[in-house]
Amino acid sequence: MDNDFQKIITMRILIVEDETSIANFLNEGLTEEGFAVDVADNGKIGLQLALDNISEYDVILLDWMLPGLNGIEICRSIRKENKTVPIIFLTAKDTVDEAVFGLEAGANDYIRKPFSFEELLARIRVLMRRNENETVVFSTGDLELDIDKHTLTKNGKPIELTQKEFALFEYLLRNKGKVSRRTRIIEKVWDIHFDYDNSVIDVYINALRKKLDEPGKNSVITTVRGIGYKIESDE
Ligand code: CA
Repeated sequence: MDNDFQKIITMRILIVEDETSIANFLNEGLTEEGFAVDVADNGKIGLQLALDNISEYDVILLDWMLPGLNGIEICRSIRKENKTVPIIFLTAKDTVDEAVFGLEAGANDYIRKPFSFEELLARIRVLMRRNENETVVFSTGDLELDIDKHTLTKNGKPIELTQKEFALFEYLLRNKGKVSRRTRIIEKVWDIHFDYDNSVIDVYINALRKKLDEPGKNSVITTVRGIGYKIESDE
C-alpha cells in the first residue's frame, strides 16, 4: 500500500473536461491522491497541452463532447504522436458502438458518467500498472481483495460483491487501521451528483457485513460511532 502511494505521488495527469463541476471534482480528488493535475476545459487547449507535454503525462482523462475539438479527434491526434500514454474516456454515451469507437480511436479504457471517484481511481491504477505486471492485493484476516482482477476471496473462495460494495470495501481496506469518515466515504465512493444523504453508507455496510462476517466473531468492519467505519490493522 505504501508502495502504491509512493508511485502515485510522482504521477502527472491531464483532464480535458468542459463541465466545471466534474473537472473540479476530479482535480480535487486526484490532487488529494498525490497526482499533479492539469485541467483544460476546451478541446483545442486540451490537445495543445497534451502535445506540448506528452512525455510528462502518465494518464489523460478525456471527455467525449467538448467545445473546440471533440474527445475522439483529440485522442486520434495524441496517438499520432504517442502510442503509449494511457487515455481514459469520460463519457455519458453508453451504447456499445460508441465505446468501441473510443477504443478504436486509441483510448485504453472508458468510464461512463456518472461514476464514483474510487472506480475511476481503480481504472487509472490498473492502466499505470499494466506495464509493470504488478498486482495490488489488499487483505484482512482471510479476506483478499484483488484490485486488478476485481475479485474478493475468503480462504481462496470467491465472494460476489456489487460494484458499490466492492468500491466501499476497497476504500476501507486502503485505509486499514484508520477511521474512514462518513463524509469522505461519500465523496470517494459515491459519485459527484449523489444527493447528500449518507445513511446509504449504513445500508452498504450492512450488506457487506452479511457477506463477510462470521457468526459469533467480531465484524470485519468496526463502527466508530458518530464518525465512520474502520477495518482494524492485523495484529
Ligand atoms: Ca462535455
